[in-house]
Amino acid sequence: MSNSSNTNDAQVQSPGYEQDPFASAFPETREFWLAAEAGRLMLNTCEDCHRPHWYPRAVCPLCGSTRLSWQQATGKGTLYAFSTARRASPVYTLAYVQLAEGPTLLTNVVEADPDALTIGMPVQVTFRRADEGRMMPFFEPDSRA
Ligand SMILES: [Zn+2]
Repeated sequence: MSNSSNTNDAQVQSPGYEQDPFASAFPETREFWLAAEAGRLMLNTCEDCHRPHWYPRAVCPLCGSTRLSWQQATGKGTLYAFSTARRASPVYTLAYVQLAEGPTLLTNVVEADPDALTIGMPVQVTFRRADEGRMMPFFEPDSRA
């Protein structure tokens, strides 16, 4: 069994999400965590109302359908709201990011000077491994926007 933190796709032998209690507690999210291991952000999209939603789940929260499929998101979005915990160590920024596809997700902004953040600024997804093992989507300022 490997506990390697090597993020090179070809080197991943035992994906961290398999031992992660959060990821394994929700079987309907397995495709999401699999894709996250490879640095891809996936969205559940409803086959009936044709709208994507966040977070991944077994039933469409917009119409109740169970006919869902996975679509790869662009990973692009904008900063909808944020709050920086300046007394925390390390300092971190909690944020709502609205994805280009529409859904809004609660996340952290990383690799950014909190003082340089502004509402509406373009951000892009980046993945970090959680202590429990799964790769988690976070967001950073979009340097190419
Ligand atoms: Zn729906």
